[in-house]
Amino acid sequence: MQYVSTRGTAPVLDFGGAMMTGLARDGGLYVPASVPVMATADIAALAGQSYEETAFQVMRPYLGDIFSDAEFRTLIAAAYAGFGHAARAPLVQLASNHFLLELFHGPTLAFKDFAMQLIGQMMQAALAKSGQRITIVGATSGDTGSAAIEAFRGLSNVDVFILFPHGRVSEVQRRQMTTPTEPNVHALAMDGDFDDCQARVKDMFNHFDFRDGVGLAGVNSINWARVLSQAVYYFYAAVALGAPHRKVSFTVPTGNFGDIFAGYIARAMGLPIEQLVIATNQNDILHRALTTGAYVTDGVKPSISPSMDIQVSSNFERVLFDALDRDGRAVAGLMDDLKTTGNFAIPQGALQSLRDTFASGRCSEDETRATITHTLAVTGELLCPHSAVGVHVAQGHLSATPMVTLATAHPAKFPDAVEQATGLRPDLPPRMADLYDRPERVTRVPNDLAALETLILERTGRK
Ligand SMILES: *Cc1c(COP(=O)(O)O)cnc(C)c1O
Repeated sequence: MQYVSTRGTAPVLDFGGAMMTGLARDGGLYVPASVPVMATADIAALAGQSYEETAFQVMRPYLGDIFSDAEFRTLIAAAYAGFGHAARAPLVQLASNHFLLELFHGPTLAFKDFAMQLIGQMMQAALAKSGQRITIVGATSGDTGSAAIEAFRGLSNVDVFILFPHGRVSEVQRRQMTTPTEPNVHALAMDGDFDDCQARVKDMFNHFDFRDGVGLAGVNSINWARVLSQAVYYFYAAVALGAPHRKVSFTVPTGNFGDIFAGYIARAMGLPIEQLVIATNQNDILHRALTTGAYVTDGVKPSISPSMDIQVSSNFERVLFDALDRDGRAVAGLMDDLKTTGNFAIPQGALQSLRDTFASGRCSEDETRATITHTLAVTGELLCPHSAVGVHVAQGHLSATPMVTLATAHPAKFPDAVEQATGLRPDLPPRMADLYDRPERVTRVPNDLAALETLILERTGRK
């Protein structure tokens, strides 16, 4: 299987290359040269299989010869062994034709664990073969960083450095990053906001001597291996509800468009998904873009669903590439417009194709709180604010086809918003109840590239 860049000029890579590279050298994102379609009988044969076996069957065609089948099965088993639920991604029923897919039973209580745990195992296995050592550097507003630290802690060929904005992540998120004791984990509290953290990480990737010197690698949500790992739970949920013999719809709380893009891939592989609904909070650039055809940035408004507070939705470039008939030059042109003017116009044909593929909706702050309150009252289910955005938007798209809303985080990860809406303060699951008692280990760092690079060189024994 070969991977090509959405901007058309970066080198073609295999799976391992795409996983290790992350962002393509022409600024684009890697996508498969063609998506393998699963035969209906093969989808039907997933019925009753474990999450792990589903992952093996769905992902295997994308991997080429990087791992043997036995190796890949071992990596999948290790990735999901630490989850707190035997089903890994259990379905809960909210209404006659509305289901919630709970993706928050991983070690950091958010859906990002599904991809991050597996990419950790796959990177370590690939590096162990080549004898290389890499340095993962990432910026986080909370969930990505904790998931990355949890996935890479203790792995012998990887050091992981996570920059988070000092004082601006929730206490649970901070403790998840600062309490692991393994020496290869480095939590860095930076003076500044999330955009500053992300800018410094970008600077490091653009500083080629440093990048090559420490073997810099990224695991942000544009990494193809992460997207692919997320396609698995669409199959798992749809098959549980009767696919391929029955169609299923999905609503996905969306920020960087990684999670819903995984659903798009599942559908391209032959999973009969009827509606694929983009749910945004008040940062509704994607909903506006589909409605008006104009992708216009206008500043992030902080919300109670902070993991969806985005200005530019990176993975949207991947569906644009398909909607523009895989014309890399055209994608690069729109992305240049975005960079220089803060917006771009989706060409008419591409807009029609996007509207044929996706529906969308927006959920205000008040609607988010009201959905948490109401859902608890009528079902007993306590939603996190992100999942509530999804449930609200899904309710506007219910039909005779079963609707599955993705629950992206555990309510205990956002206890203040949940308590405000319900009066209940959600408890952490018992297996992590001691999080508040564990000692923290964190380095306070300035918003300064040279200082950050020196620290990373020292900590990785290169200086
Ligand atoms: C990351 C995240 C999202 C958004 O996911 P994308 O793949 O960026 O669209 C939604 N909810 C939670 C809890 C998250 O951590």
